[in-house]
Amino acid sequence: MYSKIGLEEHFAIPETMGGSTVYFENTGAKDIRSTRLLDLADIRLEQMDEYGMDMMIMSLNSPAIQEIYDAEKAATIARKANEDLATAIQKHPDRFRGFAALPLQDPDLAIKELHYAIEELGFVGVLANGYSNIGTPDEYVYLDDQRYRPFWAEMEKLDVPFYMHPREPMPCNAHTLDGHYWIMGAPWAFGVETATHALRLMCSGLFDEYPKLKIILGHLGEALPFTIWRSQNHLNKRRRGMPAKRPLPDYFNENFWVTTSGQFTLPPLICTMLQMGSDRIMFATDYPFEEIPDACVWFDNLQISETDKKKIARDTAIDLFKLDL
Ligand code: ZN
Repeated sequence: MYSKIGLEEHFAIPETMGGSTVYFENTGAKDIRSTRLLDLADIRLEQMDEYGMDMMIMSLNSPAIQEIYDAEKAATIARKANEDLATAIQKHPDRFRGFAALPLQDPDLAIKELHYAIEELGFVGVLANGYSNIGTPDEYVYLDDQRYRPFWAEMEKLDVPFYMHPREPMPCNAHTLDGHYWIMGAPWAFGVETATHALRLMCSGLFDEYPKLKIILGHLGEALPFTIWRSQNHLNKRRRGMPAKRPLPDYFNENFWVTTSGQFTLPPLICTMLQMGSDRIMFATDYPFEEIPDACVWFDNLQISETDKKKIARDTAIDLFKLDL
């Protein structure tokens, strides 16, 4: 059994539960998953001990803060979630670390909470659930928008990773799924939505302006390791005014890391290793939407080199998050 650090390990507070319960409906495990999501200690520690997870870097569920269109309310709930998480970390400092939840509806409020979470609470990164609703339920903004450049400047200065986590597409952008709602969420829509957001960041020139930004994607890169060469190959033929100065695979291989969350099978892992290198892959489960035993037993039995397994299990996370382990 390998000593593992998990990077996509969710919790909820009562105020953010509403957005997640839909994913537990008709699974036969609604109550246990809801209980696990709200638990910040014993239930998850028991499974972590059994399956060799030394540490979880915990993050709020999805969409949580990002779906609150009132910025002040988003800031209040983000603060509560961050403080609840900080309390849980203080009780188990050798087992838990935290990703900050931020009210990105308002970049100034987000910067304020960012500094508080990193500098006062000791969190090691930020996790956001994609785009944020702003102003009204029908308005939204992606993180490549110019209004976020000061936020990204602060992220680069603080030198902490940003985990771009999935959420559903806005209903107005999801008509390709009409009548096929079974592929909303993790079966399909999450990956497309999040990969698109990551491409928006790359194409916008964000990484030309802030070349030291560190972005993490779950689910082995949301299929981008498989597709990014084709994106660039056709951008080479027709750029259509894209601001980015460098080829997209350069940003992907220099500014991005990925985790194994919810992708417990070898072929996409091999593809990701070939595209990005094993130094850019880290272990994660996506608890409690995925099962810790599924992630850990798969990983512990993987037929890849010992060197790569140790990097993926914990060594790369220790370096990237500057963990004092
Ligand atoms: Zn997740």
